[in-house]
Amino acid sequence: MTTSPPSLSHIRVVLVEPAQAGNIGSVARAMKNAGLTRLYLVRPVDHTTGDARKMAHGSGDILYGATVTDTLDEALEGTILTVGTSARARKDFDVLYGPSEVATRLVSLPADCEGALVFGREKTGLTNDELEKCQLLCRIPSAHSYPSLNLSQAVLIMGYELYRTAANPDERPDLEIAPYEQIEAMYAHVAGGLDMLGFSSHHRPETFMRSIRRLFGRIQLEKRDVSTLHRIFRHIDRFVVRHNIQVEPDGPMSRANRATDVSESETEKTDEPE
Ligand code: SAH
Repeated sequence: MTTSPPSLSHIRVVLVEPAQAGNIGSVARAMKNAGLTRLYLVRPVDHTTGDARKMAHGSGDILYGATVTDTLDEALEGTILTVGTSARARKDFDVLYGPSEVATRLVSLPADCEGALVFGREKTGLTNDELEKCQLLCRIPSAHSYPSLNLSQAVLIMGYELYRTAANPDERPDLEIAPYEQIEAMYAHVAGGLDMLGFSSHHRPETFMRSIRRLFGRIQLEKRDVSTLHRIFRHIDRFVVRHNIQVEPDGPMSRANRATDVSESETEKTDEPE
């Protein structure tokens, strides 16, 4: 039986301020071996000459086809799942995934949804601000005495996991993952429901909504999970109406939700599924 090669074209590799041309070339080579094609470089050194060319043997298409951006935001535009990588656990970033979990999440993204793997500077890695833009944080297990891998070797290990996961359909969970817009509609409903209940957060409402996004961002929500939550919140809506409770229609939680939404316009277009 012949199987078509796995497609990883919806996954981009983002390098933030790579300072050594040779590393960029090696990353292109590692990507080629793994079947990854889309390289994004944020403020790189010159990546088209010298060591970069040498190390990118057989993978010039990836190297020269790289998209260069001034900011990480530009490099992440259009993605819905962003994974930051780090050699160390970071304070305030307590949920750490391993390469195979991350690969499963990225490979099983719904059609038309893009993901990114973000790698940091050779000397200092990613800043906390940069990691905050990522939904998941991934660490490749390595010796505690010297946990930091060479940049391109880190890309190779992540690429290997992605390739392996994509090439083995048996290992891919058969889930009906909820697409982005359905998940956004769910957050809007949760926020609206909290407003209906007159919920007020001791912290800023934005922080609370961010915690909710963090909680659900940690798990792969299937369509039926989203429907379950809608059911609960529909019940709350009806309860409030039936009991004639006076509520603020567009209250603080709904406003906070829109402030934490990365793509407000898409949310507003979305219909809530039955
Ligand atoms: N001194 C830096 C290491 C930078 S290594 C630090 O401690 O953060 C360059 C990049 O390679 C890192 O930013 C990360 O993206 C990746 N990397 C290196 N080792 C890694 C590991 N064990 N797990 C995940 N990513 C790793």
